[in-house]
Amino acid sequence: MTTNTKYNLTTRILLAMAIGILVGTFFKFLLDGQAERTVNIGEFSFGIKALFIDGFFHVGGQIFISSLKMLVVPLVLVSLICGTSSLKDVKTLGRIGTKSMGLYILTTAMAIAIAVFFAVLIKPGEGVNLQLATSFDAGQAPGIAQVFINMFPANPIDAMAKGEMLQIIVFAVLFGIAMALVGDAGERLRLFFEDLNTAIMKLVEIVMHFSPYGVFFLMAKQFTILELSDMVNLGKYFGLVMFVLFFHGFMVYGSFLAFVGRLNPLMFFRKMKETALFAFSTSSSNATIASNMTTTTHKLGVDNKVASFTIPLGATINMDGTAIMQGVATIFIAQVYNIDLTMSDYLLVVLTATLASIGTAGVPGVGLVMLAMVLQQVGLPVEGIALIIGVDRLLDMTRTAVNITGDAMVSCLVAKSENCFDEKVYNDPKAGQQF
Ligand code: ASP
Repeated sequence: MTTNTKYNLTTRILLAMAIGILVGTFFKFLLDGQAERTVNIGEFSFGIKALFIDGFFHVGGQIFISSLKMLVVPLVLVSLICGTSSLKDVKTLGRIGTKSMGLYILTTAMAIAIAVFFAVLIKPGEGVNLQLATSFDAGQAPGIAQVFINMFPANPIDAMAKGEMLQIIVFAVLFGIAMALVGDAGERLRLFFEDLNTAIMKLVEIVMHFSPYGVFFLMAKQFTILELSDMVNLGKYFGLVMFVLFFHGFMVYGSFLAFVGRLNPLMFFRKMKETALFAFSTSSSNATIASNMTTTTHKLGVDNKVASFTIPLGATINMDGTAIMQGVATIFIAQVYNIDLTMSDYLLVVLTATLASIGTAGVPGVGLVMLAMVLQQVGLPVEGIALIIGVDRLLDMTRTAVNITGDAMVSCLVAKSENCFDEKVYNDPKAGQQF
């Protein structure tokens, strides 16, 4: 679908975001801390919050999120089946899997190590008042054994119905391998799935076309809720997480691209803008899968064989941004409670936060729940999470953008090393602009 507006999609999304922020802030100002404000126009009266914030903004935003989620299961299933069934041999798949898992874990461990380093240096928890405004219910984090068991679907249809990403990936890969092994029948099926994939990609394009409206609604609602005073109180924590997120997102990923992939990082960041904005406004790696797959394949030149595997896998297990928040938050909480951590505690933080971020689902706010697991491991008070809840939403938005940027970066490196990469597309600033 070609857009007949004179602005490209990224500009339209940015514009929608800016207007959404302004409108949201305006409504927050109108409500002036009250739960509701009634406006009377002649005979007609309505509540501002009920009509706009819980009405238009909420409904519009949720429809957008649902439309994005709607794409995920069919897109991942079908494109991964296409990708796997067209691989020459199972060994290639094994290599792609090993490389991407290795890079995902390596970058996550680096992310937390950097976060812990800066948190120890800057001491964001010093001088913070221990007055908890709310309490925090940690919930139950799944054990490691269960995480492995859960990867295998007892019922693939159930996995799809529930959107269990790892199970869908395992099923699609196995099915793709089986297709590749059954000769003519597999070839006929492959053609069918290729056609299905084309239609699903069209659907992705259609949803993307309307995305600026969705972004507007999400931002408008978000900015009526955001408490800026919390951000000032927890300024050091907030600022530090933000700083490490940007540092990791640009410096670490940029270095990987330049030195490992021998690719121009600026081109990468330029092309990732739109998908990063999606992640920012939805706070969900999962909801960003469709946009990220389109960007990596059409704009960055990663072959679908690699992207169809690495992007959904990354959205599920690779959470560098989340790990950064968990690293800083752990040290922050230890400092607030005046608990000294030893060197081995720091190592434990790196290890458990890596595992926790793997176990974090790509949906809004779960990073905070998984933080409970890290705190428990190092023997820190889980209630400490209540301290940082107030500023977490904006951090969640930003860390999700880092999470998905990491997925795309690793996809480029893996694709390049497997000769499944079109460098001409990567270096062409106009490539894939119709998306
Ligand atoms: N919202 C994050 C994501 O979807 C996860 C988190 O950190 O809460 O990637």
